Amino acid sequence: MEETRIMLSEKEMPQQWYNILPDLPEPLSPPINPGTGEPIGPEDLAPIFPMELIKQEVSQERWIEIPDEIQRIYRLWRPSPLYRAHRLEKELGTPARIYYKNESFSPPGSHKPNTAIAQAYYNKQEGVERICTETGAGQWGSALSFGCCLFGLKCTVYMVRISYEQKPYRKMLMQSWGAEVYPSPTNMTKSGQSILEKDPESPGSLGIAISEAVEDAATHEEAKYSLGSVLNHVLLHQTIVGLELKEQLKLAGEELDALFGCVGGGSNFAGQSYPFVKDKMDGKDIDLIACEPKACPTLTRGLYRYDHGDTAGLTPLMKMYTLGHSFVPPPIHAGGLRYHGDAPTLCLLVDKGIIEPRAYHQNEVFEAALKFARTEGSLCAPETAHCIKGAIDEAVKCKEIGEEKCIVIAYSGHGFFDLGAYEKYLANQLEDYEYPEELIKQALSELPEIKDA
Ligand SMILES: *Cc1c(COP(=O)(O)O)cnc(C)c1O
Repeated sequence: MEETRIMLSEKEMPQQWYNILPDLPEPLSPPINPGTGEPIGPEDLAPIFPMELIKQEVSQERWIEIPDEIQRIYRLWRPSPLYRAHRLEKELGTPARIYYKNESFSPPGSHKPNTAIAQAYYNKQEGVERICTETGAGQWGSALSFGCCLFGLKCTVYMVRISYEQKPYRKMLMQSWGAEVYPSPTNMTKSGQSILEKDPESPGSLGIAISEAVEDAATHEEAKYSLGSVLNHVLLHQTIVGLELKEQLKLAGEELDALFGCVGGGSNFAGQSYPFVKDKMDGKDIDLIACEPKACPTLTRGLYRYDHGDTAGLTPLMKMYTLGHSFVPPPIHAGGLRYHGDAPTLCLLVDKGIIEPRAYHQNEVFEAALKFARTEGSLCAPETAHCIKGAIDEAVKCKEIGEEKCIVIAYSGHGFFDLGAYEKYLANQLEDYEYPEELIKQALSELPEIKDA
């Protein structure tokens, strides 16, 4: 009988991360200091990140050792299983072979602790006592709280106020791991105070929460800041997933034809796909498909330009696909996919046609998630549902043209803290938003003027 779970033993877990920087088709455009207009150097980042992570951010080493202590913690849930979706295949009547690499077994329930653990480790090594971060719906905040807890670090989380009030369960998870969680904007930072002066009832935003967390770290000697996606070192830590996937496909006697992952800032998609990018550049016929919401269509409708990472324009300018830092995404339920930009390496690979983006509406995405739950059993995060939709469409196409194919879904997390979104879908109360062209144009007209380096 064909296998359902393709497992690696603990001993077979990869011991290095894969760094894509030396293998990119051209060098990345450097991040720019928003104050001086000059490329930023390590000294600009040193107040907010530990040195080892700054080194990883610009490293040209292809392989980077995973320290033993991190490997030991990874083994709480790694290597993660690769599943063959036999029942979904049968339901679809497709000749395609569908697999999913399941990152939902980590204690916080997603891929995010792959980097949270690593970041907590390097901060601890360099004597940092406290890490500050922002979180929207709470997935990143809970992963970092977990990481800090295991290394005896304090964790301060600025959680977007509206989520803090409406989605309390991830907040409780963070507090269970010992984090201090504040509804942002707060009175504790200058950035927060200036927002509250204008609007005491402000619901907050990810951009505001980032400004607060960065300010907290920059103004306190014992504290540093941490980001859960977008940056090179974050994507690096996620590559353990794709490296495992490669081994597991070998065990199953498969060659990857098409990989589907969802993209918020790009970290889980990069983690799964980057170990295959070199194979593709060397001539292998592999489709790497990045799935995003039509309500926040960064890769499919944004411009490839320099832009800020935050709303206030305080963070370095990076060359990326962007909808403009003033873009306010509609309130869709895949909170983790509502970011105006994406990881610079991912954007470069999209620009070169190595990675292909596709966008979906939220109703069709939830429909696909339930088809998956009703065949495979697992209820995915609304973010993950985007690539399940992409993969199902591909498998249906295979049926129509009678093509056998190996399809892999990057299953980034479970949906147990997102049942409110499923409730709305089941009650027919979800709206599809397609971002209007005028509003995209307007946000893009506010992009900073930076000449390409
Ligand atoms: C945060 C999150 C995402 C989106 O973030 P990326 O950095 O693009 O991976 C996707 N899926 C889940 C389950 C998440 O928690």
